[in-house]
Amino acid sequence: MSQELSRLSPRLEEIAARIMAGEMPNAGRFCGACLHPLSSGGGACPHCGRLPAQVEPFTAIPKEILAMVQAQRMREALVVRGMAYGGLLGGVIASLLPIVFWDVHWWTVLLLFVMLGVAYIGAANLANTVGDALGYRWGQWEKRRRWQRLMAQGGLEALRRAP
Ligand SMILES: [Zn+2]
Repeated sequence: MSQELSRLSPRLEEIAARIMAGEMPNAGRFCGACLHPLSSGGGACPHCGRLPAQVEPFTAIPKEILAMVQAQRMREALVVRGMAYGGLLGGVIASLLPIVFWDVHWWTVLLLFVMLGVAYIGAANLANTVGDALGYRWGQWEKRRRWQRLMAQGGLEALRRAP
């Protein structure tokens, strides 16, 4: 049994996120080996190729898997938002410095608005580039950590026995 995370399909993660958002019920047929959603035909899993006859499909996504996807996405969002708001806050503080040091003049007020504009665009860009990349890595790292723990505790088969 593979220790790698490659078994969870992007489609499954998308569905898990929608279930947690309350946009769809947690019910259906999911591959017993990788949890990819299956069609009702009984054919092989389009993601891992296993047959439902070989591994009994799940009728719902186990809550451990939902929690895993949620933990990953939460970390991604946290870093992106943290960088956006943190960058903006830093920019607002920096924008006020000319007025703090040189008092209110037309040019310190002008500088305030120019710096606010730069901070706004800069923070958004920082969040969408650096924040996105760091958040993705943190999210993947967390997912991998949880997946390895799950595998050490008996893998997906163990989740069938769980209530
Ligand atoms: Zn599969």
